[in-house]
Amino acid sequence: MKLKLHELQKPVTLSLSESDGWFCAVFEGLKLKTEGPLSLHLVLTKEKEDIFFEGHLQAKLILNCSRCAEDAPYVFNEFFYPVFTHGQDPSIKDAELSKDELDITYFKEDELDMGDVIREQIELMLPLQPLCSSACQGICPQCGQNLNIKSCACKKDDVYSPFQVLKDFRVIKDTKKKRRK
Ligand SMILES: [Zn+2]
Ligand SMILES: [Zn+2]
Repeated sequence: MKLKLHELQKPVTLSLSESDGWFCAVFEGLKLKTEGPLSLHLVLTKEKEDIFFEGHLQAKLILNCSRCAEDAPYVFNEFFYPVFTHGQDPSIKDAELSKDELDITYFKEDELDMGDVIREQIELMLPLQPLCSSACQGICPQCGQNLNIKSCACKKDDVYSPFQVLKDFRVIKDTKKKRRK
C-alpha cells in the first residue's frame, strides 16, 4: 500500500487485520509464520515535511527456537513511533549523527510504501534469540540430541563452552548494522 503525502492533510487512522492483503504479505515477505488474527492500528500525522507514525501491532508468531530449532510461539505486541522526513538525508554529508537522528528515515518521493515501513518495524522488534520455553535445554552440540526430549551420554562440561558468548556477540552486532540502514 502506497501512502501519498498530499493526501495526509489531517491525521489518518488505519485499522488493519489479516483480511488486508498487503499487511499479510509483509509477514510472508519476512518468512514469518503467523497463527490467528493480525492487528495493526496506525495513526499518521503530517507536519510540514515530517510524517509521524504511531503504531500498535499485535500478532501471534511461530518463530524458531534459537536453542533447539523447534517452534517457539511468540506474542508480538509492540508500539512503535518512527518518523519519516521528506527530503535529502543529511547523513550523506555528515557521518557524525546523534542517536535520535538515526530514528528518522528520509525519503524523496511523494509516497511512502507502507509495506516497507511495517516490515522494517517488525524486523527491529523481533526477539534476537526466540525460545520455545525459558527452560529449553537446547541441542547437544556433540551428538545433536534434542535435550528437551531426552538426555544424552555426552560430557556436560562442553555444553557451557566459552564460544557461546562469542556467538551471542555476533548476533547483536548484525542487528545494529541493520538499524543504521
Ligand atoms: Zn527450544
Ligand atoms: Zn550429546
